[in-house]
Amino acid sequence: MAFKSDFAILGRPATDLRGKTFGRLLVKEKEKARPEGGNLKWICVCSCGTESRVYGHSLMGGRTQSCGCLHREKMKTQFRTHGKRQTVEYTVWSNMRSRCNDPNLADYGGRGISVCERWSNFNAFYEDMGPRPSPKHSIDRINNDGNYEPSNCRWATLTQQKRNMRRNVVATINGERLHLMDAASRLGLCHSTLTLRIKRGWPIERAFTAPKHTRI
Ligand SMILES: [Zn+2]
Repeated sequence: MAFKSDFAILGRPATDLRGKTFGRLLVKEKEKARPEGGNLKWICVCSCGTESRVYGHSLMGGRTQSCGCLHREKMKTQFRTHGKRQTVEYTVWSNMRSRCNDPNLADYGGRGISVCERWSNFNAFYEDMGPRPSPKHSIDRINNDGNYEPSNCRWATLTQQKRNMRRNVVATINGERLHLMDAASRLGLCHSTLTLRIKRGWPIERAFTAPKHTRI
């Protein structure tokens, strides 16, 4: 009966695990009480020096053999073996290269956007960009017409990227070069109205100067 360690079955006392070792864990004593109730755990000392509390059945069943350090060490070794090939940064790097090498992709390879020489090496890319800050971030070119290179790339959220895209559209109004968003707010125009007008092929001057409610 493997599960008897934690319970007193039919009045029999639970197995005493004190002094026994399970993997890296040496059992010291049983908890006196659990603050949240439930089954009592055994207080163990791991060979790395960390104290941990484990259920008797986890110890006896061989499921828990350390404070967690064993698992961490295994993961580390695995990571080293596979390098960064399984990381999200590697996928980003690899997709970036495919986009730029594809002459059929109008927004990338097709219009001559390329990856700098240095970044043909993943390690150099990772060194410059660092880890992706969060799953919401993706690689973003600061200047949309520029290449993938350290000075023109950053991790950015979709919101940041949209703002950046708008910022890249420049219009000259009364001799002043303005980014689309700045120009729109200065003229009291709604940004989406302005974008739509430009998309429909309105001359820039008219797009900015036509009254708010002109039909598009
Ligand atoms: Zn440990």
